[in-house]
Amino acid sequence: MSRPDSARREQLATALAAVRERIAAAAARAGRGPEEVRLVAVTKTFPAVDAALLTDLGMLDLGENREQEAAGKADELRELRPEAPVRWHMVGRLQRNKARSVARWAAEIQSVDSVRLAQALDRAAANAREAGERTGPLDVLVQASIDGDPERGGCPLDGLAELSDEVAGSGELCLRGLMAVAPLGMDPAAAFGSLARAADRLRRDHPDATELSAGMTNDLEIAITHGSTCVRVGTALLGARGLASP
Ligand SMILES: *Cc1c(COP(=O)(O)O)cnc(C)c1O
Repeated sequence: MSRPDSARREQLATALAAVRERIAAAAARAGRGPEEVRLVAVTKTFPAVDAALLTDLGMLDLGENREQEAAGKADELRELRPEAPVRWHMVGRLQRNKARSVARWAAEIQSVDSVRLAQALDRAAANAREAGERTGPLDVLVQASIDGDPERGGCPLDGLAELSDEVAGSGELCLRGLMAVAPLGMDPAAAFGSLARAADRLRRDHPDATELSAGMTNDLEIAITHGSTCVRVGTALLGARGLASP
């Protein structure tokens, strides 16, 4: 390993330990165990070598928000660490015309927010499986829009039942639960409280859909208080992203 690599590895190891401590402390305060909260490292805008170093540290759940960037990075990481059993999570807005590509590299799509996207992903996953590009089913979280603002992605809360039924009834998609981003300008505790109630309703109809993906660098503690089972962390692990980046 070259010297810059080992310095970066140290940096990532320190950051990872700190994030794991934040998760454990928040879980403990909520009377929950640290193993009840998955950590997805969001590697968007960072290079595949960073993803490789994270896998060396045992981080195998990696997230991306742009299909094209992710597809390339997944290929690069496969060359860098062919043995690492990485699970890529798509957490960003997804257009239907990217369904075929995302089905090649993603283990889980956390951002399914419309019936038409779910249908496109179902077909894409079937095609990818027939082409030998994937084996297992495609895990899906439906993304909720807590404030109902259609500009920012996510399905309005009153559309979640229909969307979840569509995913659960499809042949290739496996409904795992719910995801959301706290809306800007909304009190995160109120946002995650409303999300937790939506997750409860979802579990009533789909008892196996137990995942609740909520919480990022700035709000993961509040999300864990409100029942998050998966936090998606970029900045606190990898550092600040450039100004031009989302
Ligand atoms: C970028 C991103 C994250 C990570 O955000 P940080 O604040 O850097 O931790 C989480 N979820 C989604 C959907 C993202 O796009």
